[in-house]
Amino acid sequence: MTDVFLNPGFDNHEQVIFVNDPAADLRGIIAIHNSVLGPAAGGCRMQPYESVDKALYDVLRLSRGMTMKSSVAGLPLGGGKCVIIADPNSPGKKARLKAMGKHVQRLGGRFWTAIDMGVGPEDADIMAKECDYIFARASEYSDNFNPSHFTALGGFHGIRAVAHHLRGTDELRGLRVAIQGVGATGAELTRHLVDHGAVVTVADVNESAVSQLVDQYSVTAVDPSIIHTLDVDVFAPCALGAVLNDTTIPELKASAVCGLANNQLERAEHGQNLFDRNIAYVPDFVVNAGGMMGASTVIFSTPNRENALADIEGLFTTITTILERSQDEGKPSEYIAEEMAKKRIYACV
Ligand code: NAD
Repeated sequence: MTDVFLNPGFDNHEQVIFVNDPAADLRGIIAIHNSVLGPAAGGCRMQPYESVDKALYDVLRLSRGMTMKSSVAGLPLGGGKCVIIADPNSPGKKARLKAMGKHVQRLGGRFWTAIDMGVGPEDADIMAKECDYIFARASEYSDNFNPSHFTALGGFHGIRAVAHHLRGTDELRGLRVAIQGVGATGAELTRHLVDHGAVVTVADVNESAVSQLVDQYSVTAVDPSIIHTLDVDVFAPCALGAVLNDTTIPELKASAVCGLANNQLERAEHGQNLFDRNIAYVPDFVVNAGGMMGASTVIFSTPNRENALADIEGLFTTITTILERSQDEGKPSEYIAEEMAKKRIYACV
C-alpha cells in the first residue's frame, strides 16, 4: 500500500494531492515540497509509470529537487512538481492535460506548472486553457526564448566551471566530453561545446537524433550502453535520472560529471561514492536551473532574455564555489549545494 509519509522521497513535503478524473482518464499526483521562498513551481511529467508507488517516488524526488534548484538559483519560488500516469503517445492526452490544468487551477496559484518529459510547450498551452498558473507555454516564446536552450546554456557554463576546476582555465579547447542523450538539451549543449573547441562524443537510443548531430558537427557517436564508461574529462548525463548508481559509478573514467538530467544520483549516498572516487560532481539541480531561470520569470516579472542570460552565466560562479568548497571542506558537492539551498530557505522562515 502507498504510504506517502513513509515514502523514501517524502522529505517533509508540505502537501501531496492525488488527482483523479475518470471522465478524462486522468490519474496523477501534485507534490508541493516547500513554498517558503514563493509559490511552488515545477514541470508536469507524463509517463506510463508501472505503479502509483513509482509515480509517487518520482514526483516527490522531483518536487524536492525543484525546491533546491530554485533556492540555489536565487529565484523567489518554492519547489513542486506534478505527474500524470499515462503514456504521452496514447490517445486522450489533451483531455488529461486539461483535467490536470483544472486541478492546478483549484490551488489558486500556490503551485505553478510547466513542461517536463512527455509534456511540451504546446501541451502547456493546452493546460493553460483551464489554468492561469502555467508557464513555459509555446505561445509565450519568441524565437530566441526557449527554456531548453536556456537549460543547455547553463550546462555550457557548468562545464566551463568544471574545466576551470580541473585545468585552471575555462578554455574548452580539447576538453573531452561524453554526452548521454541528445534531445532538446543535449543537442544544444553539444553545439555550444563544439563551437568552443571541445571534443564531444554523443550517444542516444534515438538513432536519428544522433545521426543529425553527426551530420551537422564534428562529433563521434558511440553505443548508449558504453557512453558513461569513456575515458573523457566530463561525463554529461542529459537523458534519464538515476544514471549514477552502484553499477555505473565504478565504471566511470571521467574526472567530472556535469549534465542536465534531473535526479542523476540514484540514491543520496552515490554523491559520496563519486566524492570518494575523486570525481567532481556538479549537482544536477544547480547546473540545470537555466530553463527555470528564464521561463519561470513570467511568474514574478516580465520575461527578459538579457536578464535571463546574465543570470544563467552566473551559474559559472555558483558551480565554481560549490566545487571549491567540496574540495576544501572534504564533503560531497551535493551536500554543499543543499546546504546553500537550505540556508536561504531557513533565513526566510
Ligand atoms: P528530451 O526528451 O528532449 O531528450 C532526452 C534524450 O535522451 C532523447 O533524445 C532520448 O532518446 C534520449 N535517451 C533516453 N534514454 C536514453 C538512454 N538510455 N541513453 C541515451 N539516451 C537516451 O529531454 P530534454 O528536455 O533534453 O531533457 C533531458 C533531461 O534533462 C531530463 O532528465 C529532463 O528532466 C532534464 N531537464 C530538462 C530541462 C529542459 O529545459 N528541457 C530542464 C531541466 C532538466
